[in-house]
This record gives sequence, C-alpha cells and structure tokens, in this order.
Amino acid sequence: MSLHPADRIVMHVDMDCFFAAVEEREDPSLKGRPVIVGSDPKGGQGRGIVATCNYAARKFGLRSAMPISIAYRRCPSGVYLRPRFSLYTQASRKVMDLLRSAADVFEPAGIDEAYLDVSSRVTFESARDLARELQAGILGKEGLSASVGLGPNKLVAKIASDHRKPGGLTAVIPSRVAEFLDPKGVAILRGVGPKTREFLLSLGYETVAQLRAASREFLFREFGKFGLHLWDEARGIDDRPLDPSWDAKSIGREVTFETDTADAALVGETLLECVAEVHREMVSEGLWCRTLTVKARFSGYETHSKQTTLRLSTGGLAHLESGALSMLEPFLGQGRSLRLVGFSVAKFSPPEDLLPLGAGD
Ligand SMILES: [Mg+2]
Repeated sequence: MSLHPADRIVMHVDMDCFFAAVEEREDPSLKGRPVIVGSDPKGGQGRGIVATCNYAARKFGLRSAMPISIAYRRCPSGVYLRPRFSLYTQASRKVMDLLRSAADVFEPAGIDEAYLDVSSRVTFESARDLARELQAGILGKEGLSASVGLGPNKLVAKIASDHRKPGGLTAVIPSRVAEFLDPKGVAILRGVGPKTREFLLSLGYETVAQLRAASREFLFREFGKFGLHLWDEARGIDDRPLDPSWDAKSIGREVTFETDTADAALVGETLLECVAEVHREMVSEGLWCRTLTVKARFSGYETHSKQTTLRLSTGGLAHLESGALSMLEPFLGQGRSLRLVGFSVAKFSPPEDLLPLGAGD
C-alpha cells in the first residue's frame, strides 16, 4: 500500500552516547564515571577530538567533537579511551537487525541511528508500544539505551528523538507538530548551522514559531531556494522518503599529528595506517567500495580532500593503499606542514555481486 507522505508514521531511533555506552557495557567498573572516547589527551597536550562521552562527562561541560585538550582541562579525572570501532560496529549491526525487522522501510542513518517507516504496522497510538518494545529489546539483548522519536516524517521524528535523552520516547502526532516545534531554536532545522542561525537571529527569528511568521516570499528573497526549505521545515513539512540503502554511507579514519609536519614519510605512513584500519573494517563488514577519499588539513585548519571513483569495486588492501598514496602526493608536493591526514571509502557493495578484480590481497 502506498501512503501519502502526510499519512506516514516515521520512527527515529538514536543510541545514547553510543561508543561510551558500549565501553561501559564491556567494563561495568566504568559505570558512573565520566567516560570519554576519542583521541589520546596526553595530559592536556593531546590533539584531536572527543568522539563520544557519557552523561557523567557531559556534566563537566564535555561534548562530542570538542578538542580533547579542552575536555581534559575540564575533566582531568575522566576515563579517556581510544575508540574500538570493531566493537561498536558489531553492537550496531545487532541493534540494526533488531530494528530492521520492525520496519516497512528501514534507513540506517549512521552507526548509531536509524529511521523506520512503520506506517502499515501501527497507528500513532500503538506506535508508542512498538517503540517501547524496541527500546526494551535493545536494552535487554544488547545492554544499551536508545532514545526514540515518532512523527509524520524524518524531520519531526529526529527532533523528537533528541527531545528527551537518554532513554526517552517522544511521539508527535500530526496535529501537534507546530506546538512541538514552536518553542525550539531555529538551529534544530536542517541546514541551519552557526552562521545561518546568527543571520536568522539578526532578522529576529530565534525560535521556530518566530520563523513560521516569516512569509515564503521574504525567505526566498533572503535565502533563495534554501528559504523555501526553511519555510517548509518551520511547519514540520518534510516529504523526503526513507532511503533503504543497506549499508553505512562511509567508513573513514583520520589522524591528527602531534605537531604539524611536512615529513612525507611520516605522513605517508600515517595515511597507510588509516587505510589499514578502514580495510579491516571493510573485511569485517564484508564490503567492497568504489569511492576513495583522502583528506588533508594544513597548519591553520585549511582542509582539502581528493576523491577517486573506481570503475569497479575493490576490497583489496594493495589497491586501496596505492589509490590513497597517489591522492596524497599533490598535498605533499606543496611542501606545507600538515595537521591531519585521513582516508575514507564509500559506495559499498557486497563482494559476491562483483567481478573478482581488485582483490589485491
Ligand atoms: Mg546517538
């Protein structure tokens, strides 16, 4: 049965502090202590960032993507752990399998979140029961906590899952969408980053309710097409279908150097370490890829990337290594110091669908 978008029931499931929660599960002695998963803080001298931290760490003002040195200064007594991605990937796969079985259409939106279209299975009233059942299943089987949002589309469902964390359940029925969104700041809308938020603020739009008072014409004049998108979103309108791609969008690793470096050998070696880790994860996931990307950040934060899309997919380490090194070369040739180097792959497919070309190892 195909439903009009207005009739959909979309669920967004978001794991709470996922990496830190998996670490707590693996080592119960961590319970109640601030746990920070990310780069090595090196006593406050470390570079790189916080990947995830738990709620005990958030009480110290820590959050994802914060420089690890700042995190350490605010919370030197925290437990700082390097990420163990294979562990998180395994936990994620089990959670995703559980969720997938409850959906008409399933969209994994990252290692720790997913959208479920459950329109044909439940009414808005019974959707709450389904959500609680899934939360209980994730907790019972995986020992992990998830927050769930229900809404008539992806936009509202995602904002709802963030409404009460951790372990929250927020259902927003179509007739209550405006009431739910109105008090929230405009930054919750898609595409509204710090700069756009500042600009909207300068126009007098701090909350969604205020933005909803703006005319379509005015928003179009100020923002072009993006203004029309804002007009829709301020009303909770979002007709995007779920994208049932079966795999992660990309797998990547990056390393921030202790000190910025122009040492070609060091940079190349570090990039190859990233390639090896990405390759390990591809093997454990049974994936081949077509797109390779190398990212380089120079001193002063100027960031560039180079991307290659192969004619055929590859799962071979040697193939990935040579691709990565040849993309790195132009960055090294500039003789400038690098702060960070990284490698990622995307456009996945299962190997059995493909010709055996590129299996270099
Ligand atoms: Mg999450």
